[in-house]
Amino acid sequence: MERETLSIHAGYAPKNGESRLLPIVQSTTFKYDTSEDMGKLFDLEASGYFYSRLQNPTCDNVAAKIAALEGGTAAMLTGSGQAASFFSTFNIAGCGDHIVASSTIYGGTFNLFNVTMRKMGIDFTFVDPDCSDEELEAAFKPNTKAVFGETIANPALIVFDIERFANAAHKHGVPLIVDNTFATPINCRPFEWGADIVVHSTTKYMDGHDATVGGCIVDSGKFDWMAHADKFPGLTTPDESYHGITYAERFGKEGAFITKCTAQLMRDLGSVQAPMNAYILNLGLESLPLRIERHCRNAEKVAEFLNSNDKVSWVNYPGLPGNKYYERAKKYLPNGSCGVISFGVKGGRAAAEVFMKNLKLGMIATHVADAHTCVLHPASSTHRQLTDEELVAAGVGPDLIRLSVGIENVEDIIADVKQALEQI
Ligand SMILES: *Cc1c(COP(=O)(O)O)cnc(C)c1O
Repeated sequence: MERETLSIHAGYAPKNGESRLLPIVQSTTFKYDTSEDMGKLFDLEASGYFYSRLQNPTCDNVAAKIAALEGGTAAMLTGSGQAASFFSTFNIAGCGDHIVASSTIYGGTFNLFNVTMRKMGIDFTFVDPDCSDEELEAAFKPNTKAVFGETIANPALIVFDIERFANAAHKHGVPLIVDNTFATPINCRPFEWGADIVVHSTTKYMDGHDATVGGCIVDSGKFDWMAHADKFPGLTTPDESYHGITYAERFGKEGAFITKCTAQLMRDLGSVQAPMNAYILNLGLESLPLRIERHCRNAEKVAEFLNSNDKVSWVNYPGLPGNKYYERAKKYLPNGSCGVISFGVKGGRAAAEVFMKNLKLGMIATHVADAHTCVLHPASSTHRQLTDEELVAAGVGPDLIRLSVGIENVEDIIADVKQALEQI
């Protein structure tokens, strides 16, 4: 089935007389007739539910829908996108290991890797996503366990060359993990380009209504852990905390990664998504294809408007002809990129502040990628401690405005932006 259909139907199929809409199983625990029945679950011999820190039916149904949308074999929900990024990497890399990551990934992920995970003894090499083949090759070490990138970088809007990074990762016997938050599986399915694991902040377009923070990890089921058994002992040698089962043997390529991630990391770290949040996320997923299409068509028109406005000095949007990533976006994102645009106003910080003050429809928010048009001027908010020179060095100049185009009528959005620009 196509993605529009999967968005509605995948993951949950009610039987005769059952609730048509995915039910919320708001229960921490589950009842069994015998201790033996429950024991099988604890030994991972049978699948089923016993405690919602590990698994919950509502969350599993929603994860299955996202797996279907991405074309993967298994998935799990997490309490946030941050937890998804952490679990996806920590599931295969521990103290003494190394990961290659794109240098333009989301700031929260960069901080997780560069500060927190370094404290856990995991080393990172950050590479420019447009680096030369030699530079990319030189980033790998004997202890490298994964490569990590973002389909469309938030907020740099750089389109990641998934196929190239997948080939480089596979040449070194490690998986490529892709954060597909901004593109969503509606616009890009990284598995079709060789990625092995996909992560999402479902907080953004998937939820789409500012309602719930959440994350998801999806496995393509294609990476052969056993073929690189020495690199991934956590998957290819017995887990003594589960009576010596070996995940890659017992659950195969299709299930090993997510089973281990659930059985060990979720068990021990407990970053679960609540069933109520998964239920709300599911409502967002049902309309995701429609919303994404509208976000893209609106953003394309707003980008063209900005590009032809004489108060605007530059526009960065991968869907705009002439953009550095326009051709690459056509390859990976043929139906559209996303709703987020960044642009600069002539007159720098002061002009940007005037623009922000005069917006009437566009709401000032740090959030992006939801139904409402949101605007952020990093120099006067999230990055206000930096000088103009430091802002330029960080790639967020004092004139930069990030505009997350919503699904309102595009003429209303353009009218608002136009009148605010006129005040400069
Ligand atoms: C927001 C975001 C995250 C972090 O997700 P949270 O749900 O806020 O924890 C990760 N990656 C990208 C691309 C994001 O935009």
